[in-house]
Amino acid sequence: MISIKNAKKIFSTKKGQVRAVDDVNLDISEGEIFGVIGYSGAGKSTLIRMLNGLELPTEGNVIVADNEVSTIKGSKLRKARQEISMIFQHFNLLWSRTVKENIAFPLEIAGVSKNERIKRVDELIKLVGLEGREDAYPAQLSGGQKQRVGIARALANNPKVLLCDEATSALDPQTTDSILELLVDINERLGLTIVLITHEMHVIRKICHRVAVMEGGKIVEIGQVLDVFQKPQAEITKRFVQQVTEPEETKETVQQLLSLYPNGQIVQLGFVGGSAEQPLITNLIRNHNVTVNVLQGKISQTQSGSYGTLFIHLDGEKEEVAKAIDFIHSQKVGVEVISHA
Ligand code: ADP
Repeated sequence: MISIKNAKKIFSTKKGQVRAVDDVNLDISEGEIFGVIGYSGAGKSTLIRMLNGLELPTEGNVIVADNEVSTIKGSKLRKARQEISMIFQHFNLLWSRTVKENIAFPLEIAGVSKNERIKRVDELIKLVGLEGREDAYPAQLSGGQKQRVGIARALANNPKVLLCDEATSALDPQTTDSILELLVDINERLGLTIVLITHEMHVIRKICHRVAVMEGGKIVEIGQVLDVFQKPQAEITKRFVQQVTEPEETKETVQQLLSLYPNGQIVQLGFVGGSAEQPLITNLIRNHNVTVNVLQGKISQTQSGSYGTLFIHLDGEKEEVAKAIDFIHSQKVGVEVISHA
């Protein structure tokens, strides 16, 4: 379904040349859910934008659903793009249009008749579970509902490929799960090929069949998700895998800590890029009615932020501890929480 051959994208900037995508080769089969993971600046967006012709490679070829999107132009490219839809982190909905008008928009552009449009929008509303919200405006919807509109709109013209650009990064963990489940459902029901880019390994683990890890514009590791989780090869892959697995050693640590601190909760925080740990702890101490003990952990600083694990102990009234944990959960960016009663 997708074939990328020796693709390079070099941007010329005032500071010199940036190799955003550096000699990438990749084949993705029909019906696959394929994930691309990497930290900010790895080249994920540039790669995914090449798949729908939004970005042209400096060198190489990109073929999607039998169309060489890296060379075709004008009406041919527009037609090819109907086979390749995209959903976005911030949904990109039309704010002055209702749910059903948003979903109907690509059908209008494709010249579908009004009766057909009404029928198709109705089907799509059911497919993504938005019954009863047809006449709402985006501002009246939750984040998860907005992404459901984005998905319905992307599917309107029966594409062969769905590209997901950090599609769950603006959502809380529960909503993320429900959107990921919807994507799996659509993949299974429609046989749609899905390519998603993310910086979150739990997204890959939850729904992808295969994964490519990108760093500095290159694919540094590629394989079946299970294999990559069991035997990560590249250093960067090991870091991503650590985001979501709890090694035996950690379990022992938690047991020891629980015996030392039988009251309250031990919370394991995993930091993945960004510099979130200090502000988070400060906020807990200042704004929550709990005692915060930073117990132990290992945080390393790299160019793109801090990585590692920190154990903290929260003690206080049960409700206050629960509120503090909710607050930690709401700090989506770069924090994973495993809490132990
Ligand atoms: P990611 O999606 O993994 O964060 P991007 O593909 O957005 O990575 O960016 C890869 C690299 O290319 C970064 O160094 C970024 O600054 C650079 N880049 C992306 N788009 C442009 C552009 N239009 N002009 C110049 N540099 C760009």
